[in-house]
Amino acid sequence: MNRIFEHPKSLKYTNTHFCPGCTHGVAHRLIADAIDKLNIREKTIGIPGVGCCVFLYKYFNIDVLEAPHGRAPACATGMKRAQPDKIIFSYQGDGDMAAIGTSEIIHAANRGENISVFFINNSVYGMTGGQMAPTTLLGQQTTTSPYGRDFKTEGYPIKMAEMLATLEGVAYSSRVSLHSPKHINQASKAIQKALEMQINEMGFSVVEMLSTCPTNWRVSPTEALETVDREMIPYFPLGVYKERKGKDFL
Ligand code: SF4
Repeated sequence: MNRIFEHPKSLKYTNTHFCPGCTHGVAHRLIADAIDKLNIREKTIGIPGVGCCVFLYKYFNIDVLEAPHGRAPACATGMKRAQPDKIIFSYQGDGDMAAIGTSEIIHAANRGENISVFFINNSVYGMTGGQMAPTTLLGQQTTTSPYGRDFKTEGYPIKMAEMLATLEGVAYSSRVSLHSPKHINQASKAIQKALEMQINEMGFSVVEMLSTCPTNWRVSPTEALETVDREMIPYFPLGVYKERKGKDFL
C-alpha cells in the first residue's frame, strides 16, 4: 500500500475533537509519522501542555504525561534526566509555551536539555475562547483585543524560534507551516530532524509550526489556510534559525 494512506502506528485510530480546518491534526500526524519512521514508538514519551492539545494522550499510541500551564519543558527535563534512553517531546501551544511557560522553555533551552519541543503557533488562545496570545499579530482582533492588537499597549508578537536560537544550549530551531502540501512536507522533515537531534544527543531542539484556528479567527477553513500564508508568514518567516552540526559544544 502507498505509505501516504497508511495509518501511523503511533496514532490511535480514533476521531479527534479538533474543529474543522484546524491543523493540530496535521501536526499530530507528522509527529506520529516521524516516530514510526525512526522506530522509536516504544521509547517515546509525549508531554502536552494545557490547551487544544490536551487530549494528546487520547490520540497518540505512546506513553504520555500531562503537564498543564507551561510546565512541559520542566517535566520533560526531569523525565529525560531520569530516563536518558527515552525520547521525550513536549507539544505546546502559544499560550502554554510563550506566555504561561516562558520561564520553563527559556531555561530548558538554555540548559541544553536533550529534549524536543513542538510549538503550535496559531496566534491566539484556542481552547479558552480566543483571547490575545503573545503571538497575536498587530491589528489582529481577539476577544481581549477587540480593536486589534496595538504595540503601544500590548507589545509585539513574540518570535520564539528566533529567540530560542540565540541560546547556547539550543541545537536546532526552525519555523515551518502547516497550510499547504509543500509546507507540510517541509514540516515533516523538520520534525524528524528535531527527533534525530535528540537521538544523537545534540541538545535542545524546537520546531515552531504555524497553524490555523478557524474557530477563533472566525473564518472558514479555506480562509484560515490563506490567512497563514498572507498574514502569519510575513511576520513569522519560515526557516532554520539554528542547526548544530557537530559535538564541539561538549
Ligand atoms: S479552537 Fe482553534 S486551535 Fe482549538 S481545536 Fe478549534 S480550531 Fe483548533
